[in-house]
Amino acid sequence: MQLLLADQLGPHFELESELLLPLVDNQFSKRNYHRQKAHLIRYAQLARGRDTNVKLIRVGSYRELENQNLTSIAHPSSRPFLALAQSLNLEIHENPGFCSNFEDWDAFLASSPKRLRLEDFYRIQRKRIDILMHQGEPEGGKWNFDEENRLPPPKAGLGLPEPYRPQEDELDLQVRAELDALEKSGKAKFIGNDGPRIFPGTREQALVALNDFIENRLDLFGPYEDAMDDRDWVMAHSMLSVPINLGLLSPLEVVNAAVAAYQSGDARLASVEGFIRQIIGWRDYVWQLYWHFGEDYESKNELKANTPLPTSFSELDPDQIEAKCLAHAVKSVRDNAWTHHIPRLMVLGNTALQRGFNPKQTNDWFIDAFADGTPWVMPANVIGMSLYADGGQMSTKPYAAGGAYINKMSNHCVGCKFKPTIRVGEEACPFTAGYWNFLAKNQETFKSNHRMSQTLGGLRRLSDLPQLLEQEAKRKSL
Ligand SMILES: Cc1cc2nc3c(=O)[nH]c(=O)nc-3n(C[C@H](O)[C@H](O)[C@H](O)COP(=O)(O)OP(=O)(O)OC[C@H]3O[C@@H](n4cnc5c(N)ncnc54)[C@H](O)[C@@H]3O)c2cc1C
Ligand code: SF4
Repeated sequence: MQLLLADQLGPHFELESELLLPLVDNQFSKRNYHRQKAHLIRYAQLARGRDTNVKLIRVGSYRELENQNLTSIAHPSSRPFLALAQSLNLEIHENPGFCSNFEDWDAFLASSPKRLRLEDFYRIQRKRIDILMHQGEPEGGKWNFDEENRLPPPKAGLGLPEPYRPQEDELDLQVRAELDALEKSGKAKFIGNDGPRIFPGTREQALVALNDFIENRLDLFGPYEDAMDDRDWVMAHSMLSVPINLGLLSPLEVVNAAVAAYQSGDARLASVEGFIRQIIGWRDYVWQLYWHFGEDYESKNELKANTPLPTSFSELDPDQIEAKCLAHAVKSVRDNAWTHHIPRLMVLGNTALQRGFNPKQTNDWFIDAFADGTPWVMPANVIGMSLYADGGQMSTKPYAAGGAYINKMSNHCVGCKFKPTIRVGEEACPFTAGYWNFLAKNQETFKSNHRMSQTLGGLRRLSDLPQLLEQEAKRKSL
């Protein structure tokens, strides 16, 4: 019998005819998960357990699985579960939840001996899987369409319909009662708001969500990929990371649906290319890097950042925050256990970088607070890309940005008590001042990085740097 894990719930993970899906009693007691994340996982497990070929069992701990006649498993997505599979002597098959296997990664490493670069990996994936390729050349003659993308939000908004949201059913009520009881008994503590379930928890619901995205949002995905808007928490993003990471959708079927929309003229190439890059490129890249970098990577702290996470983050409390962009992002996480990529990287991650939040704590916070958060996806995205805690293994320079970037790519600054152009004084934008403060504090580390030389030159020319540093040293909240 095959052991099925909670992120392996779709048909592409069925390698044997009989499957065992364990529900572990203390699943939610070890960490403070977002309430909606715990709800979704438990709902998805119970719903999958209704299928006739799946045996659902409740166990006190995974050790009890030793007596269950288990033979195989799809490669687990994290080190602790890999160790479990090994301890149970299971035959470990490839993980069908990704578009590349470990041999593909080795071949990439062999062909790309110098620096690891997403772009090189992505092009190899495009050719190998034969997606949007035409006689060996990329469709449309270009590998990316960045100059057509990255637009700020339109003044009138995108005007897209609300994304699909599943109708709650009796199983939701059962799960809600179970989580209430866990919380009441003190066996679990959740963060974030409960609310009607937003994300698909079954294969059928996941397919509706996929079709909804392809029909209604994919065409605008590319141009507005980086835009943020006070009035629209989803924009043209897919929100499909959640069902893909639960294993309800296969990444390749998602990619094929997007390509079909391009071929039928329903979505522009710039959007479809941008979207598949995220999946066969970024998603597979960070999965491979999780194994490639190894366990030590998660404790890296090159910038010696040791500020504990403020309660506005750990308790998801936007009311403690004055910066409008940041309050908006934290509110979205509190209410939806989700924000799109740019608030994650350029607002939440940027805050953590500028304010020196401890990388391991930040990594764990993202895992617990986001519905799509998993141990494999976070290290490259958080430790590497957002916090530069790996000293440049993921990106050649830190993704630090001041208020000017946020002002360009969003409408958040309108009505904010701060001004993105001001760095000292009552109205100083915490992102603009935070940017220079961060550079000043870490200039020794960055001085040998030639990609930072122009920025550090700018820092040296700031006449009000002493006042700015004094102001930021005194800043109590954002
Ligand atoms: C600080 C930080 C935290 C993140 N946390 C998560 C997380 O918990 N879970 C998660 O799946 N992704 C995470 N990402 C990556 C990315 O932000 C999300 O995948 C994306 O925002 C999910 O929304 P979406 O499905 O609408 O994505 P879309 O914008 O519609 O993109 C399509 C798909 O591409 C994949 N993808 C895109 N970028 C990445 C990436 N950098 N890494 C991995 N997959 C990617 C996702 O599967 C996503 O569904 C994080 C990125 C950052 C910078
Ligand atoms: S002014 Fe600064 S703090 Fe306010 S929304 Fe803009 S970037 Fe954010």
